[in-house]
Amino acid sequence: MDKNEQGSNSQKTMVFHASLDDFQPRAKSTQRRKGSFFAKGQKPNSNHSPRRQLNSSNGEQQVTFKASKTLKICHLGGLEEVGRNMALLEFGNDILIVDAGFSFPSDDMPGVDYVIQDVTYLQDNRARIKGIVLTHGHMDHIGAIPYIIEKIGNPTIYGTNLTIGLLKEKLDEFGMRGKVKTVVINPEEDKLTLGIFKVGFFRVNHNIPDTVGLVIETPVGKVVHTADFKFDLTPINEPVVDLGKIAEIGESGVLALLMDSTGARNPGYAISEAEIKANLKDLFARSKGRIFIASFSTLISRIQEIIDVTIELNRRLTVTGRSMISAIEVANKLGYLEVPENFILTAQKASHLPDDKLVILSTGTQGEDASALTKMSRGEHKFFKIRKGDTVVLSSSIIPGNEARVVEVYDNLLRAGAKVIDYKQMDIHTSGHAHQEELKTMIRLLNPKFFIPVHGNRYMREANAELARSLGMEEGNILVVDDGEVIELTETKAEVLKARIPTSFVMVDGLGVGDVGNIVLRDRQAMAEGGIFVVILTIDHRTGQIITSPDIISRGFVYMRAAEDLIHRARQTVREIFKRHVSRENVDLQFIKTVIREEMGEFLYEETKRRPMVIPVIIEV
Ligand SMILES: [Zn+2]
Ligand SMILES: [Zn+2]
Repeated sequence: MDKNEQGSNSQKTMVFHASLDDFQPRAKSTQRRKGSFFAKGQKPNSNHSPRRQLNSSNGEQQVTFKASKTLKICHLGGLEEVGRNMALLEFGNDILIVDAGFSFPSDDMPGVDYVIQDVTYLQDNRARIKGIVLTHGHMDHIGAIPYIIEKIGNPTIYGTNLTIGLLKEKLDEFGMRGKVKTVVINPEEDKLTLGIFKVGFFRVNHNIPDTVGLVIETPVGKVVHTADFKFDLTPINEPVVDLGKIAEIGESGVLALLMDSTGARNPGYAISEAEIKANLKDLFARSKGRIFIASFSTLISRIQEIIDVTIELNRRLTVTGRSMISAIEVANKLGYLEVPENFILTAQKASHLPDDKLVILSTGTQGEDASALTKMSRGEHKFFKIRKGDTVVLSSSIIPGNEARVVEVYDNLLRAGAKVIDYKQMDIHTSGHAHQEELKTMIRLLNPKFFIPVHGNRYMREANAELARSLGMEEGNILVVDDGEVIELTETKAEVLKARIPTSFVMVDGLGVGDVGNIVLRDRQAMAEGGIFVVILTIDHRTGQIITSPDIISRGFVYMRAAEDLIHRARQTVREIFKRHVSRENVDLQFIKTVIREEMGEFLYEETKRRPMVIPVIIEV
């Protein structure tokens, strides 16, 4: 890459999150160079190849773009975490997006609901986006769409029937169904032409039906994206992975393989859905009382297994949790779930059944506050309270960051007398994703020139790279990169460019997207650690003197009533600070606020060794 490349400079501060300080407020984005970050080392005035004038997204400036003859692959998310998946392919003037999911926040993001991609680059280049192709309907692959789709110019979204069905359900929550263009593809027949890219599909197995891998034809060769996958020879309610088609693709020559790494540390083969069902039946058969089972709403295969086993054991099913109910409705309507008519009872009806006739399926595997399971564990659920004799099956692993909440639910369930089974074999992070032998088979079948492990933290992707090495793949052809790093591919060469595109976390909190930046987050952390301490001063606007004794309000700092002495001295200190800095000629309120904040902060630290957030409020009367 050209050293004079200007793009890299302003992007330096945008490198992936080393600390919270790296979170960049969105306003900065306009300062960055517009146009293709990929057009490295090319002078804007060069007239050797065709150039195109594009309107920049916000109309501020015309962008000059020069097409290049290499393929670039970059991830805006999914390479440093399990979640937030999004891959970009760019060739010449065209950009293709694969998946757009969200992830859950980590412990240092209080109040944040979800984390999505920084789509600044896509916003700046929205006119070049030829489409979004979805691999399957899990939220870590489709969940970001309602938040980003309008910002990036509303490109058409392609996916299989169930994937698009679940997406529409999600869009409904935002009142966006009619505003987003979606196309249902048939993986057996369809081949899409999206700009310069031609996209074909092959079926894989996962723990949701209708998951497809992608074969993306580009001018320099074929890129295969495996999606989340496993090879399941006995899947539930869906066809077996299309091994024949995968072998054919391999024979036709594959330039680069992007492969799921989530299960790359697990030896052997992923457990088949049929085996999960057999285990589930065993487990259910041993339970004499009511059976509660918590799962993810989009784990459609798991839901089918639960339905089947419930029928086989002569029990009835009820479902609680809004997201679970709507996912079942969609999957059933589209034919991806087989549910006998009127089989699922309302919670009210079910609550009258004998204990040994009932299975209760709910959300809440992550200890979410509002979830049905959490409520039941606390005895707050309208129809079902946990009691002795109940069996509760938690069917998935804990997503990092949710541990404490899950432990609380777990404890409450046990306290209420339930038997709790933490069912590891049904763990989404292992059961749905290929283990080492399957991953090796996939590499062998596709026999790619270049190997790019995707999905998962670095340690998972390195384990995947190790598998490729063990099969004799050359070191230089294995590319383990991070979010934002750009791989440039020709027919024979692969190179990681020095410049990155921004991939900072964009946080979703309630209705706000991206407005919770570093400052808000730091405030929340400060408040969480030290509480807040508000000083209210009422001053006479003519004399500039304090009228009444300063008011003090604090939360999460000290218990006020037990700290009367401290509060009394704090009031005095405020008065002294005020006297010291204010003269009749100088009543600069902004300045007074600053000194109160600083000096009261010191005073409180001296007194308590705590650092609350001090907020001065001055009221002039
Ligand atoms: Zn998945
Ligand atoms: Zn996934």
